[in-house]
Amino acid sequence: MNNLERLAFDRQHIWHPYTSALDPLPVFEVESASGVEIRLADGRVLLDGMSSWWAAIHGYNHPELNKAVENQIKSMSHVMFGGLTHKPAIELAQKLIEITPDGLDWVFYSDSGSVAVEVAMKMALQYWQSQNKPEKNAFATLKKGYHGDTWHAMSVCDPETGMHSIYNDRLPKQFFVEEPQISFFGEWNDSDILPLEKLLSENYKQIAALILEPIVQGAGGMRFYHPNYLKQARLLCNQYDILLIADEIATGFGRTGKLFACEHAHISPDIMCLGKAITGGYMSFAATLTSQKVAQTISEGSAKVLMHGPTFMANPLACALAIANLKILASNKWKNEVLQLEQTMNLYFPEFKSFKEVKDVRVLGAIGVIELHKAVDMKVLQAIFVNHGIWLRPFGKLVYTMPPYIMSTEQMKELIQKTKSTLNQYFNN
Ligand SMILES: *Cc1c(COP(=O)(O)O)cnc(C)c1O
Repeated sequence: MNNLERLAFDRQHIWHPYTSALDPLPVFEVESASGVEIRLADGRVLLDGMSSWWAAIHGYNHPELNKAVENQIKSMSHVMFGGLTHKPAIELAQKLIEITPDGLDWVFYSDSGSVAVEVAMKMALQYWQSQNKPEKNAFATLKKGYHGDTWHAMSVCDPETGMHSIYNDRLPKQFFVEEPQISFFGEWNDSDILPLEKLLSENYKQIAALILEPIVQGAGGMRFYHPNYLKQARLLCNQYDILLIADEIATGFGRTGKLFACEHAHISPDIMCLGKAITGGYMSFAATLTSQKVAQTISEGSAKVLMHGPTFMANPLACALAIANLKILASNKWKNEVLQLEQTMNLYFPEFKSFKEVKDVRVLGAIGVIELHKAVDMKVLQAIFVNHGIWLRPFGKLVYTMPPYIMSTEQMKELIQKTKSTLNQYFNN
């Protein structure tokens, strides 16, 4: 099969994310990826502004990550985690407990972010069941959130941009509160927390946990909210006896300028979900962390055990990669890298405001967002981006970038310039 035949097969037989089988958006075949570059099968090279959805933070084909997986494969690729354990799992758990906010002392490994969220939600339900409060079985969450595509994760995604309309009455009903209105950079006013306070005070008897993405609401709208909101949410959870689940799957490992977004507000959640960048973008892996108190309470309940156990739990290759990722992060080079990217974006992003089609631009850490007034034509815009030699994947009204941390200032400028010329061509046609 040549490149065109492969693409034809792909089009007729393989699902891509959120895609029609009858009229799929075009896809581009990738031959290889290295550093901040994605090389297409037709020879074109794209500068990557997506880190493959927040994951490839140190770039592709990284020598230390390659070495970690090569070394691990020689001793074992996988063994079951029931009844067996191994050094990579233990070493990784030690490191995760050390670097995450205080009080998170237990680690549950799983295969993907959505599963980590499911596990977090199961933990919360079992926690209350163990205390003979089975009526605390619903979740509170923020509108414009995103927590994954599995069943319960879906139920706490934004009711409009999420999938509620499709699965509607099959999804568990959760408590939604208006998303925070005051931006990360705005002036704090206690009124922003009132809707959450009202919701929790009226419904706390039914609420097991509040689940939210700390500081950055990602796939649900790319919004940055005020750290005081998160602080107040923590206090309200204490006051109303509700667990706080921080979904750091997108924000974790430095993306917002702090190692974890919870650090912006100096809070510790009761449960934390990690994924995406955890293996430096090499493979699917995730972890759910919780406190001694939650772990112990679950185990004192009638179920006695936490009821989850994936086949590939604590996969040694993934653990070895995660350890290598944390070693790279431990050098603290990422702080300066993220800061440089943030400064470069802050310098040039305001230029996008000269397009009348642009509603807002915002930058936090290594995240840059251009919000438009109208949703884009993905097919058209995507092709122009590729013709300009950059890889960005817009969705809805959002054109955004979260580049690999290793992207140089020059490359960041190039990405921004090419985004500008792409938008210029797109808007003027
Ligand atoms: C991507 C994401 C998930 C889901 O992770 P998957 O690995 O895609 O299942 C959950 N929560 C947040 C905040 C995410 O960004």
